[in-house]
Amino acid sequence: MSVVVVGSANLDLVYRVERIPAPGETVLATGADSAPGGKGNNQVTAVARAGGEATFIAAIGDDAAGDRLEAGLIEAGVDLRVRRSDRPTGTAVITVDDGAENAIVVDSGANRTLVDLTDVERDLIAGADVLLLQLETPLETVERAARVGHAAGATVVLNAAPIRPLPAELLSTVDLLIVNEHEAAQLAADTHGAFRGRADEEELAQVLSSLGLAVIITLGSRGALVCVPGEPPAHVAGHPVDAVDTTGAGDTFCGALVAELDRSGGGRPDLGRLVDAAAFATVAAALSVQRPGAVPSIPTLEEIHDFRA
Ligand code: ADP
Repeated sequence: MSVVVVGSANLDLVYRVERIPAPGETVLATGADSAPGGKGNNQVTAVARAGGEATFIAAIGDDAAGDRLEAGLIEAGVDLRVRRSDRPTGTAVITVDDGAENAIVVDSGANRTLVDLTDVERDLIAGADVLLLQLETPLETVERAARVGHAAGATVVLNAAPIRPLPAELLSTVDLLIVNEHEAAQLAADTHGAFRGRADEEELAQVLSSLGLAVIITLGSRGALVCVPGEPPAHVAGHPVDAVDTTGAGDTFCGALVAELDRSGGGRPDLGRLVDAAAFATVAAALSVQRPGAVPSIPTLEEIHDFRA
C-alpha cells in the first residue's frame, strides 16, 4: 500500500499585527514566526503522521527554506522525491490581525517549475495505490499526474483547492473529489451554471457526483458529506472541540482520509469505505484545530486512535 502526493511546498512567514496595513501604510509586527506550509507539504505530512506510506513529488529552492522543508518532511517519515529548482522556495507572507483576520501574499517560486514529470516520477505515480493532488501547482502537472495515475489503476484523489475552473478531461481521471462548501458551490457553478448560491450542500454533492466521481464536501465543525454517483449523500459527524486555529484543517482531513483509504484496499472506493475513511479524517482534523499552526498541529496515528477510544 502506498500514497503518492504531488503538490506544493512553501515556507509560511507569519506576522502578527494589530491591524492589517492599508495601501501605502507600514505597521510594526507584534510578533513573527515561520513554519512549513503549502497544501502538498501539509497533506503529505498528514498522510505520514496518520500511518500512511507517503511519497512526495514537489519542487523547492536550493536554499535554507528548502533545507528546512526537507528536514521537516524527513522527520515526519515522508519518502522525498523533491526537486531542487534554481527558483527560490515558495513563500507565503501571512499577516494576522488581533481579530484573527488575515491577508496573505504567496510567491509560488520553485513550485512553478514543477511542470513536466520525469520518467522516474511517472513510474512512482504509476506504482501508487492512491494519488493525492491539489491545485497549488501548475494545472498541466495536475492533469499529467492524474492521467498517469488513472491509466495505471491508482485511486486518484483531487482536493480542488484553491478552486479554479477544471477541464472535464481532468475530472474524468479523478475517482474522488474533496472540496469545502465554498469550493463545492464554485465548482458546481462552473460545471452546471445555474447552481450558484441556490443549492444546499446535499444538492451540491449530488450535482458534483453526477460528473461520475465520488465527492466529499467538508463542512467545518459539522463534519463532512460523502456522495457517490446514484446514491443519496451520507453525513459524517464532526467532533465538537474548542478550536483555536483552523489553518490546515482541510489539509489534515485530506491526508488522514487518504491514509485510511489506502489501508482499506485498492480501486475505486465505495460509499462504505469512504464513510469510514471520512470518520477517521474528521477525528484527525478535529485534533488539528485544537492546536496552532498547520504542520505542527497535524496529529499522529496514536493520537487519532486515542481520541476514538
Ligand atoms: P477548509 O479548512 O478546507 O475550509 P473545513 O473548514 O470544512 O475545510 O474543515 C475541514 C475539516 O476539518 C472538517 O470536515 C472537520 O472535520 C474539521 N474541522 C474544521 N473546523 C472544525 C471545528 N471548528 N471543530 C471540529 N472540526 C473542525
